[in-house]
Amino acid sequence: MKELLEQAIELGKEEIPLGEVASYIPELANADVKKIGIAIQDMQGNMETCGDVDNEFTMQSIVKVAIYALALEDLGLRRVLEKVGVKPSADAFNSIVKLEDDSNHRPLNPFINAGAIMCTAILKGSIDKRRHRVIELLQKLFNRDNVQIDIDTYLSEKATGDRNRALAYMMKGTGIMDSDIDVEKVLDLYFQLCSVKVTVKDLANMAAVLANDGVSPITGEQILSLKVNRVVLTVMFTCGLYDYSGEFAVRVALPAKSGVGGGILAASKGKYGIAVANPALDIHGNSIAGVRMLEYISDKLDLETF
Ligand code: GLN
Repeated sequence: MKELLEQAIELGKEEIPLGEVASYIPELANADVKKIGIAIQDMQGNMETCGDVDNEFTMQSIVKVAIYALALEDLGLRRVLEKVGVKPSADAFNSIVKLEDDSNHRPLNPFINAGAIMCTAILKGSIDKRRHRVIELLQKLFNRDNVQIDIDTYLSEKATGDRNRALAYMMKGTGIMDSDIDVEKVLDLYFQLCSVKVTVKDLANMAAVLANDGVSPITGEQILSLKVNRVVLTVMFTCGLYDYSGEFAVRVALPAKSGVGGGILAASKGKYGIAVANPALDIHGNSIAGVRMLEYISDKLDLETF
């Protein structure tokens, strides 16, 4: 396995010059483009790693998986579907154009920004309680108890988040977001959650839970219910890499979720949780080396879903 991961890293490195570090959130532009890592965990909880495995980066859109899962646990699929669709998008993750498409103006899916902001808005409890609950869920998914928010990234997101602000106010304007929701507070929480610091080891732990029907391979705890886990994986497969999801599905063929911090996690049901990271992104906002590494690993370990 170690050799396979080393090979994957070598292939990933070739892709780095073809990508670019995210710059629309100023703090992300400081990422070291040379940092590259992989972690893979099996269903017995054994982990193999390679590269810069202790390098920290922010979750960004990968946190949308936890927010969506919690919304589903809180409200159930039927009620969440009334507020957030599951339609793959041919537009960018921060696209503003498609909100009007749907008859009741639902955001297309929970993994584009509009959908994740909506999920944040419908979670149960006060904003503080929601933050606490998402962090608590992440701690279980990562199997560690000191999960933290990167304050500089959070403040940078908040200072430059006008596009997300526009999405949220538009959803309130169309009525799909309830009129009594405090948009600024919801956005503030969304920016904080995008700024959670992780390593590939954390994300491999999380991916392994998703691959193992919502059960931690390490502690045996059922962290996500079977039903929620199934829905989350399905939407990851169809929408996890934004408008690149279709091509990713044929190249890698695993449910996955990317973030503009450069991380991608992928789940191979009953086999492995995999996480890769490098901050050079393709035009869709996915780690370009990360996609290549996952393609190689999925092929060599014969993990393709179909
Ligand atoms: N925090 C980022 C944003 O809202 C998340 C986007 C992403 O990772 N695609 O723009």
